[in-house]
Amino acid sequence: MIITVASFKGGVGKTTTALHLATYFQNKAATLLVDGDLNRSALDWSTRGSLPFKVVDEKQAVKYARQYEHIVIDTPARPNTEELKTIAEGCDLLVLPTSPDALAMGATLQMVDFLGTLDTNYRILITLIPPHPSRVGEEAKAAIERAGLPIFKSGIRRLAVFQRAALEGIPVNAVKGDAYSGIAWRCYYEVGQEILP
Ligand code: ADP
Repeated sequence: MIITVASFKGGVGKTTTALHLATYFQNKAATLLVDGDLNRSALDWSTRGSLPFKVVDEKQAVKYARQYEHIVIDTPARPNTEELKTIAEGCDLLVLPTSPDALAMGATLQMVDFLGTLDTNYRILITLIPPHPSRVGEEAKAAIERAGLPIFKSGIRRLAVFQRAALEGIPVNAVKGDAYSGIAWRCYYEVGQEILP
């Protein structure tokens, strides 16, 4: 399966999503993470610590691709429409992470408008959901459902342990001594289950 993660806005958890979906898929079969983000965030992550799957940049991807069952692609933020068309048509599933704030939601809806004109399979993922009593996560999900757009049932909570995982260069389920690492991993595990149980 080829899963691509893209967003129109930075800082919405695009790289974090690509990395944890790759962690999920690696538990199923050999998985390659292609870091197409010009900031090389996923490659940096892998050099700081250790990841349970191989990470390459897009120039090396062609060489490695055939050895892997699943490929997860992290794309550059803010693709133009031409790039987005290539990205969307080159995968089995396009995952669109968005935080529940108005700016990020606006950027995602703009992207979805364009995707509607293409032959593509995409799904929106709400990320960085603040804790109770905030209800912005549920409200964002409800708004997307009302608009009849495809969305993951599960969402990703905003938890500091994700930042710790990034600093340590490991996936969140490998973080030791943090009571939230299991809860954080569960978020992405459930998304993985919705893609490939
Ligand atoms: P993008 O690729 O969209 O720019 P990143 O995945 O690099 O976003 O995340 C941006 C910042 O937010 C990073 O510092 C990352 O550790 C943090 N982050 C991402 N997801 C979460 C989350 N669910 N909870 C808390 N912090 C998060």
